[in-house]
Formats: sequence, C-alpha cells, structure tokens
Amino acid sequence: MWLYDALASFRNVERHRWLSKRSLLRAEPRLRAEGLLGGARYFDAQCDDARLTLANARDAHRHGALVATYTEARGFDVAAGRIRAVRLADRMTGDEFLVRASVVVNASGPWSDEVRGDGERLLLLTKGAQRRGAADPPRAVPRGHPAVAARWPGDVRASVGDLSYVGTTETPFEGSPETVTATADDVVYLLRSANAVFPDARLQPDDVVATWAGVRPLVRPRNGRSVGAVSREHVVTERPA
Ligand SMILES: Cc1cc2nc3c(=O)[nH]c(=O)nc-3n(C[C@H](O)[C@H](O)[C@H](O)COP(=O)(O)OP(=O)(O)OC[C@H]3O[C@@H](n4cnc5c(N)ncnc54)[C@H](O)[C@@H]3O)c2cc1C
Repeated sequence: MWLYDALASFRNVERHRWLSKRSLLRAEPRLRAEGLLGGARYFDAQCDDARLTLANARDAHRHGALVATYTEARGFDVAAGRIRAVRLADRMTGDEFLVRASVVVNASGPWSDEVRGDGERLLLLTKGAQRRGAADPPRAVPRGHPAVAARWPGDVRASVGDLSYVGTTETPFEGSPETVTATADDVVYLLRSANAVFPDARLQPDDVVATWAGVRPLVRPRNGRSVGAVSREHVVTERPA
C-alpha cells in the first residue's frame, strides 16, 4: 500500500488506510462477512490510453521524429546479417515503401513475435477480460479473487451511469491479438467470482452492459510457470537481424 502511495509521489487522492473488519463492512455492507479479517483502501488512477498514445506521438514529433500512423511494418530487408531497411505499407492506400535505418526498434507489444516473423516465440500472450454493468455494485475484492471490482468516480458516473467494472481474467491466449474478445465463459467466471464475495448482488449476464478484453505481452518463461506467476518485467533483446 505504501508503494502505491509512493508511486503517486504521495500526491494521490488520499493515502491508503487499513480497515478493521467492522469499518470495512460499514464501507462495503454487501461484502461477505464470513472469513473476513479486514481490508485496505487505496486509490488508483485512470488513464485515457488513446490520448496518452496521441500525446506521445505529438511529443515525438515536436522532438523531430517523423510520425507515420496507419503504417504497417511488413518485413525487413536483411543484408550481411543486418537489417538495412523496413518494408512499410500505408494502410489507407495500400502503397508499400522501404525505410532505411541503422537501428530498428520493434515495439509492437503483443504483435512483437508476429512482426519479427522469424518463428521464434519470445512472448506468452495472456488474455485479460473485464465486464461492466450492474448498478450499486461491489467496489472491492479480496485477494485470491480476480483483481478488481471498481466503481467509476463521481464525474464519470454522471456521464456513463452508476456502473462498476469487474476483472480481470488471466488465461493463455493463442491467435492474433486484434481478435481477442471476452467470451461467455469469461463473463460467467467473473460473475461467479463477484457473486462469491458479494453474495446478495446476484449478478446475472443480463446485468452486463459491456465487456472488453486485451492481450498482455508477457515474456515466455523457460520453466513452465503458470500464467499468473509469469514475470511482468520487460525485456530488451538485441540481435543483428
Ligand atoms: C486487461 C489488461 C490490464 C492491464 N493492466 C495493466 C496495468 O494495470 N498496468 C500496466 O502497467 N500494464 C497493464 N497491462 C499491460 C499493458 O497494457 C501493456 O503491457 C502495454 O500496453 C504494452 O505496451 P506496448 O507499447 O509494448 O504495446 P502496445 O500498447 O500493444 O502497442 C503496440 C503497437 O504496435 C502496433 N503494431 C502491431 N503490429 C504492427 C505492425 N506490423 N506495424 C506497425 N505497428 C504495429 C499496434 O497497433 C500497437 O499500437 C494490462 C493489459 C491488459 C490486457
């Protein structure tokens, strides 16, 4: 909890607070009391990922980068064991062209293996699905259950309604990252987990107004660990081609 506060440079909405069982049940009366020891309250932040991406692109442009959106890397020109150029395609017109570079950085997240295209699989993709729905819903989930059930802050609630999101799953994912969706099984799993800790919520699939899913590009472990135990650290690999 202190680490969360420290990562926010102690300028978070509020500092974390440990709660006795009694105070926790006062704050969250619908939480299952059986086996409950207490809890902690902490604040997390929300980020508009599309805006963050745009802000990065604009900043790179201001620092002299040539930014090309809707441009796909389709392959590499390799000579004498080194990448000399990247084959790019304009997704709007279909035109292909070559861009020469002395250094090429492949930062395509879950697509990194696909873009490299050498058949080696450095990544283990895991799917994270969340679902949104149900008024007056749970706000906290204890350890051992899928991570979070969070209520939107007041200003967002005013525009989207009194909804919560519940998540997340963590299951291995095969296939191309852009095809990922939350399946009916994911929804049932999340509803069961939420109902286990908030028994009188009795959430049903009909309470769900939206779902979303994404793929985590984890580094494939060598020792056959389960997906939940795989490191979240990043890795930089360098190779001539
Ligand atoms: C449900 C879920 C919850 C998560 N929660 C957290 C969290 O709380 N905290 C946290 O730190 N991380 C979290 N993550 C992980 C985090 O989202 C990713 O680690 C991060 O987005 C990876 O960033 P990236 O820039 O490497 O890849 P991405 O953000 O995936 O960017 C890769 C880009 O490459 C582009 N691309 C792909 N192929 C090509 C090609 N051929 N040519 C050109 N461009 C291409 C894609 O369009 C994309 O824009 C979560 C992930 C999921 C799924």
